[in-house]
Amino acid sequence: MSEKAPGWKELPIGGVIVHAGNSFEYETGDWRAQRPVLDKEKCIDCLQCWVFCPDGSILVEDEKMAGYDYQHCKGCGICAHTCPVDAIEMVSEEKISDVEFDEWGVKQSSSGDGGQD
Ligand code: SF4
Ligand code: SF4
Repeated sequence: MSEKAPGWKELPIGGVIVHAGNSFEYETGDWRAQRPVLDKEKCIDCLQCWVFCPDGSILVEDEKMAGYDYQHCKGCGICAHTCPVDAIEMVSEEKISDVEFDEWGVKQSSSGDGGQD
């Protein structure tokens, strides 16, 4: 955001959000303490994680689970809890540099191809 933030006198009473449809502007991924990481070799592309993610942060391509929108994923862990085959692991942001994954959060296999189709 390059615009100057409004002062308190310019904000609505109580700081309520009066305009709907602005959730994409707020990068709620900043709040995250844990990050979901996908093991594509286990994933069966059932898309239950997509159905239950409260932030619309599951990325889908060609009707298959493709990864995460980390700018908006809050790290709630619902996707990992919902996954029927335990293909999603929640990893502490502090430890994330120890986990190899591509830019969409797909865990890299030892063969180096990321387990992608
Ligand atoms: S951790 Fe929560 S917000 Fe992030 S992708 Fe999973 S369900 Fe969505
Ligand atoms: S719920 Fe699990 S198996 Fe289903 S698409 Fe998501 S990660 Fe893949």
